[in-house]
Amino acid sequence: MPNPIFVALDTQDLTAATDLAKKLSGSVGGIKLGLEFFSANGPDGVREIAKTGVPVFLDLKFHDIPNTVAGAVRAAMSVGPSILNVHAAGGEAMMKAAAEALDEATTATDCERPLLIAVTVLTSLDQSDLVTVGQSGTPEEQVVRLARLTQASGLDGVVCSPREIGAIRDACGADFKLIVPGIRPEGSDTGDQKRTLTPKQAIDAGADYLVIGRPITAASDPAVAAKAIAASITP
Ligand code: C5P
Repeated sequence: MPNPIFVALDTQDLTAATDLAKKLSGSVGGIKLGLEFFSANGPDGVREIAKTGVPVFLDLKFHDIPNTVAGAVRAAMSVGPSILNVHAAGGEAMMKAAAEALDEATTATDCERPLLIAVTVLTSLDQSDLVTVGQSGTPEEQVVRLARLTQASGLDGVVCSPREIGAIRDACGADFKLIVPGIRPEGSDTGDQKRTLTPKQAIDAGADYLVIGRPITAASDPAVAAKAIAASITP
């Protein structure tokens, strides 16, 4: 199994992120760059990180009308990401437009097709938050509904919390990719994450990729921490 760990570099500091990316290039499967890094450093910042040769998950969670999201996907392809994502709540037409734009840009650039992934329900929202935005039903029902819609729209998978892995696997099958944050190695600080699984538990439950931030980035030796996590999930 290739290394499933994507380390989250949640920082605005390009120099710090580049140093960390170089240190970790041999011990993680990829790097996740999100809105904070992108808002500070833009596509050129992403290209700097990509120079380390580590696959990049560009976590920008596009959510707009189909035409705009298709354009954003085409533009994002210029940095050569391995994974891109959108919000499933943008609907079927938006997700299909994103997938078509991705396929066209892949053919045009002759590069490897990135995975196109959707975010279902943000884990920061609980049942009462969903009611305030007009959604009845439990968060899990909404997650499974949006995961099915994601799959029907031709996308490759979803980002999900550890506790949602089983329900989505049952609904969407074995080939649907599950990217799972909220991971904490045994004995590490949970920080603001409330429901965590260890890396091994998450892989055993059916995760394809693990998004791990602070347990690696805040360690005294991030490369040693990443290697220890990778070893803990090697069968
Ligand atoms: O430091 P930590 O391991 O908690 O970082 C997890 C990463 O995954 C962060 O970039 C966070 O924004 C992201 N994430 C998350 N929970 C979600 C979706 C994304 O923690 N449901």
